Amino acid sequence: MTTTLRCYDCGRSTADPTAQRCACGEPLWFDTDASAATFDWPAADPRTGIWGYDALLPASPPPSGLGATVGGTPLVRTPALDAFAGVRTYLKDEGRNPTGSFKDRGSAVAVAAALDRDVERVGTVSHGNMAMSTAAHAAGAGLDCVVFVPDDISADRLRNIAQFSPRIVRVDGDYGRLYREALALGRSRDIEFANSDSPLRTAGQKTTGLEICHAFAAAGETTPDAIVVPVSSGGHASATWKAVRELDAAGLLDRVPRLYFVQAAACAPIARAFERGDDAVAPVEKGETVAYSIANPDPPSGARALAAARETGGAILAVDDDEIRTAQQRLAIDAGVSVEASSGTCLAGARRLAERGDLDADETAVLVATGNGFKESIGGVDPDADLVALANLEAVL
Ligand SMILES: *Cc1c(COP(=O)(O)O)cnc(C)c1O
Ligand SMILES: [Zn+2]
Repeated sequence: MTTTLRCYDCGRSTADPTAQRCACGEPLWFDTDASAATFDWPAADPRTGIWGYDALLPASPPPSGLGATVGGTPLVRTPALDAFAGVRTYLKDEGRNPTGSFKDRGSAVAVAAALDRDVERVGTVSHGNMAMSTAAHAAGAGLDCVVFVPDDISADRLRNIAQFSPRIVRVDGDYGRLYREALALGRSRDIEFANSDSPLRTAGQKTTGLEICHAFAAAGETTPDAIVVPVSSGGHASATWKAVRELDAAGLLDRVPRLYFVQAAACAPIARAFERGDDAVAPVEKGETVAYSIANPDPPSGARALAAARETGGAILAVDDDEIRTAQQRLAIDAGVSVEASSGTCLAGARRLAERGDLDADETAVLVATGNGFKESIGGVDPDADLVALANLEAVL
């Protein structure tokens, strides 16, 4: 098991496994022994789930319960999306996790680590999916849970979280500050706060990238050219970078995939910093967008996401709500996959990248569909259903 934390930026390390941020201010992540021996690969099955990579994770695998059921999501070749995307597409369907998003990967590891450490309460700061996921995994492990949510959260999202009976606190105030206050509170009250880019969450969420590369290797195929991920806090983006770094260090990749991260134009602080050539991300005023799950105006791992895109030869871009809705509909109509609006950005982003020449038609891109659409009402669709008398059924078709 891996316990040393290191800063990706200044390289400082700490042996305190509960630390979250480096003295320089940047997020920490867990060091891993990335030798080929730690990966039982490609012999192992990439559909085993996150605990198939337990040698690379900072927590003990749960013997039973919800946490044992995370990951191992399908990676499917989706030729029907190629023409729209402008590239050979694969879909990594993260909506198949127990609470419908990749957040379960991080929640499972954070809860398992809390059990290892005899901590009785876990917590998070979230717009929705992460709160729901953390609450479900806490419930599954018999731990208490506290979630801080923004005051403008919708009643539907609140109900999704509340079904697992965590302590829910709606907070009126700056979301970036809330993230930092929660970490301080976690330390003083002995609560394991697994915020968006906490080291435990990042460790769990790197398994998306591990599974993607592993699946290509297991099928005897070349590592994909690109991975396209919706980005908000920068946690999952950073984790995907960590995954490809570890695999590359172990000599298991044909190439390092270019990492592309996509934001919604109405709230795109990381894309803006990327375009300006900045190394740090300045907070923005949050605009209205259908992509509610990716609207963090003050992303705590923004600088790390910038580094991830630049070092892999990728990019960070923003797409507007019309493009997001169109892509969301294409995923449903052409591939039969229901995603929430935020996740539509993976396909919308790929299309933009192909249009501007960053992706070629003969390249392979994995689009990470981060969350399923079952939890939110699907916008832009006017249900069109005929009413017929049972006796007239024959006449309809
Ligand atoms: C949380 C979330 C994201 C953004 O992930 P970050 O790690 O915050 O960048 C993207 N899509 C969905 C569905 C999410 O729930
Ligand atoms: Zn540092």
